[in-house]
Amino acid sequence: MTARKPLVLCLSGHDPTGGAGIQADIEAVAANGGHALSLITALTVQDSRNVRQVSPVPATLLLQQLQLLLADCAIAAIKIGLLGSAEQVPAIAEALAGLRLPLVLDPVLRAGGGADLSDMATVAAMRTHLFPRVSVLTPNVAETRRLVPRAGSDAECAHALLREGCGNLLVTGGDEAGAEVCNTWYRDGATPQHYRWPRLNETFHGAGCTLAAALAARLGRGEAMPEAILQAQRYTQSALQGALRVGRGRRIPGRLP
Ligand code: PLP
Repeated sequence: MTARKPLVLCLSGHDPTGGAGIQADIEAVAANGGHALSLITALTVQDSRNVRQVSPVPATLLLQQLQLLLADCAIAAIKIGLLGSAEQVPAIAEALAGLRLPLVLDPVLRAGGGADLSDMATVAAMRTHLFPRVSVLTPNVAETRRLVPRAGSDAECAHALLREGCGNLLVTGGDEAGAEVCNTWYRDGATPQHYRWPRLNETFHGAGCTLAAALAARLGRGEAMPEAILQAQRYTQSALQGALRVGRGRRIPGRLP
């Protein structure tokens, strides 16, 4: 008998440390019961401390890869992480138009090490072309503030992003201070739901990618949004508890057994 798994289309950058980006997606999707179809938006020069360079894949090449997969494979969910260039964004959006699939978008703006990962044109294109069809946006608190700099509170930031068309927001608090990590799920017309996790005494590289990819895999399996949001966080927390040291900087999530 042929085994079948939900196919999760992942568009992400490549991180040679294996902590973030496409490798995080492939591992997190596999650990959550799916199979990742992996498209690389950019190559990066980085180590476990910081990113030094982002080199985008040509939009035309990415589009060819995407169109061939879309014609061949019955995709169950999509996860988008780092976008390589503003040019890639409308091409991706156009290829995905008409697909009624869960789309998890992790708006990668800046690396944990401090380097900027997306230029303003790419962020603007992402807002225009992708936000209106996002099922769940997974920014961290700092990213929501950068996206909506004039908002007075975290909740105001979140609601402004919902108004741009994102169906749900899962705002992660791993990079904020405090004894607990507080993640918050926002959606229209519902009270925000907070999830609190014990803060681990470490810094991590690739936690956000892991969470977003796990969430896409769970939605691809047909899990309802509340369960998928909870289980993706549980999975990420346990991957952080089993984190690996691959270099002199931050640890990377232990995503596979
Ligand atoms: N490199 C790539 C390819 C990424 O996608 C990301 C984040 O999504 C990073 C680096 C930075 O990851 P972190 O902020 O967890 O260090």
